[in-house]
Amino acid sequence: MSLSDIAITRLKGVGPAAADKLARLGLHNLEDVLFHLPFRYEDRTRITPIGSLRPETGVVIEGEVMAADVVFGRRRSLLCKVADGTGMVTLRFYHFSAAQKNNLERGRRIRVYGEPRPGAAGLEFYHPEYQVGTSLPPLEKALTPVYPTTDGVSQKTLRNLTGQALHYLNSHPPQELIPGQLLDQSGLPSLAQALSKLHNPRPDDPVSMLLDGQHPAVQRLVMEEMVAHQLGMLQKRAGQKALLAPRLQADGLFQALTDNLPFALTGAQQRVIGELLADMGQPHPMLRLVQGDVGSGKTLVAAAAALAAIESGYQVALMAPTELLAEQHRDNFRQWLTPLGIEVHWLAGSLGVKARRETNAALAEGRAQIVVGTHALFQDAVQFHRLGLTIIDEQHRFGVQQRLALREKGRFDTSRGVQVPHQLVLTATPIPRTLAMSVYGDLDTSVIDEMPPGRKPIDTLVLPEGRRPQVIERINDACRGGTQAYWVCTLIEESEELQAQAAEAAFEELQAALPDLKVELVHGRMKAREKAERMARFSRGEAQLLVATTVIEVGVDVPNATLMVMENAERLGLAQLHQLRGRVGRGGEQSYCLLLYKHPLSQTGKRRLAVMRDTTDGFVIAEEDLKLRGPGEWLGTRQTGDLAFRIADLMRDEALMEPARHVADDLLRQYPALVEPLLRRWLKGGEHYADI
Ligand code: ADP
Ligand code: MG
Repeated sequence: MSLSDIAITRLKGVGPAAADKLARLGLHNLEDVLFHLPFRYEDRTRITPIGSLRPETGVVIEGEVMAADVVFGRRRSLLCKVADGTGMVTLRFYHFSAAQKNNLERGRRIRVYGEPRPGAAGLEFYHPEYQVGTSLPPLEKALTPVYPTTDGVSQKTLRNLTGQALHYLNSHPPQELIPGQLLDQSGLPSLAQALSKLHNPRPDDPVSMLLDGQHPAVQRLVMEEMVAHQLGMLQKRAGQKALLAPRLQADGLFQALTDNLPFALTGAQQRVIGELLADMGQPHPMLRLVQGDVGSGKTLVAAAAALAAIESGYQVALMAPTELLAEQHRDNFRQWLTPLGIEVHWLAGSLGVKARRETNAALAEGRAQIVVGTHALFQDAVQFHRLGLTIIDEQHRFGVQQRLALREKGRFDTSRGVQVPHQLVLTATPIPRTLAMSVYGDLDTSVIDEMPPGRKPIDTLVLPEGRRPQVIERINDACRGGTQAYWVCTLIEESEELQAQAAEAAFEELQAALPDLKVELVHGRMKAREKAERMARFSRGEAQLLVATTVIEVGVDVPNATLMVMENAERLGLAQLHQLRGRVGRGGEQSYCLLLYKHPLSQTGKRRLAVMRDTTDGFVIAEEDLKLRGPGEWLGTRQTGDLAFRIADLMRDEALMEPARHVADDLLRQYPALVEPLLRRWLKGGEHYADI
């Protein structure tokens, strides 16, 4: 019998009521109890002389009660003086009973555990734990663990249960699910050794290493959890690959498209297109992420994939997170595909009922070959005749569930099994490798690592708000020289209303300051049509300066714009700054980005602006962003659940990710029978990893 088969109710003192409470902590069996690790330790192994007490560290003191009196200050409290010959200290209680007061009788021995803090009477212990009596028990031999807990479950209970479970460790050692030889090189301890160390460290053990994850005992558990996580994803991915998908083959249409372009594809675009077509030619679904920095030409790559699907008699759905971005795609695709005789359909929230119905009918009957749109594509009313490819732009704005919902629209049963569409995901924000490995496992990735020729890196300057007049002068010079500029107002408040107001104010100011220029304004409170018209005027060069909120973050493509000013740049995250900056530097001219900030700058704000000044490399920026924000925030709340490790911490344990992946691969090959038990132990049947 293994520890996971022994119910927690087998432990002394755990009845049904207690079991319910413990279940809230996820503790059902003895293995759960042992995997519930302390988050800190207290040293109750030695007595500290009162004379050498220092504030704010947990200590044990022992001495004699000198007095215990109720005093009436701002709050009634019980003050107890304790002395040990080296000094005297005060215990202060705001909540106390008469019995408690009587028990603290002058002359009795007392042992106290707590953290002294500076108070009215010098150092004081507030509501410490204490024991009174002539024969106090021996001091602890190991450090005292402190566990994460919940209402109604005391530390004492948890310590007691862990103590009992540790006894079982000898008679029922936990099954070693990672064979020793796979761990040999790493020099990590066995699972049983690791667990007893973590619950019972000796006073001379390096506590800081136990807490910051550097200790081999922690690493042993982290390693196992990461291995399980990787296995879960490998398994899931294998399941996906076993599904069917239509074979899609390119047949000359894309060639015809590129023949009409005024430029040649970059080598990177050609390579990535080759990778996509190879995947889509297989009878199993592709799931490929195309990463390419802002301006690297992802849209054309998507068009190549779309045409292969259309030529093979299948439909394509392209989804973007904002209406503005979706419109850009629609317009690009129309420009490219209409000459080829392909009608590009449109579906977005702003579309009228009648038009929407028409599009839906065309999709359902198979008359529409490609549709571009926003979230509106998820709606139940949207049905496809033969959806063969989904393309999603700007990945992590969508949740995994939304991507899957779109895929489901192309799911149908064939005589040979379930068929689903191929999936292509485009992102400008590269996902750092550790994160990609842990969230997406084996997601196939293609990187467009080359910019169209002639692009010059954007020159970025970081300037205090006080330089605003010179910045405005600079806009004047640039625009009178024939180029265009953006002025971005970056209020991060949720309210579009406030954002719009800030943009209106900037618009007024700039219009007054730059009488020779035509200034245009766009913000999120405008009707889609109006926004589009104003944007179009700017793209046609009829306005030289565009004042905007962050609505222009994605998709806007005006190669003649070479100057961007961002107000309050310190308020934005790196990914957003990078996206916004990518609106310039799209033509052959040298472009500039001026980041205006207000004092005082936080450390993080300072660091972010420095990163922006020092690099234009999206990969470097993404890594820095991950460091500054941590993985949860980086991915957005929707996907943080995917990172719910029990013990591992993605940032802290980053270095173990690769080795864990190797162990997972070896284990799958050499010990396939261990995969299931490992998944059961760590993932508990729940899906702690992303659904890919
Ligand atoms: P992103 O990767 O940011 O989505 P886009 O696909 O919008 O980039 O492309 C940015 C601009 O570069 C567009 O104007 C597009 O037409 C142009 N472009 C794409 N590929 C090339 C190329 N190989 N050579 C020159 N310009 C290109
Ligand atoms: Mg794009």
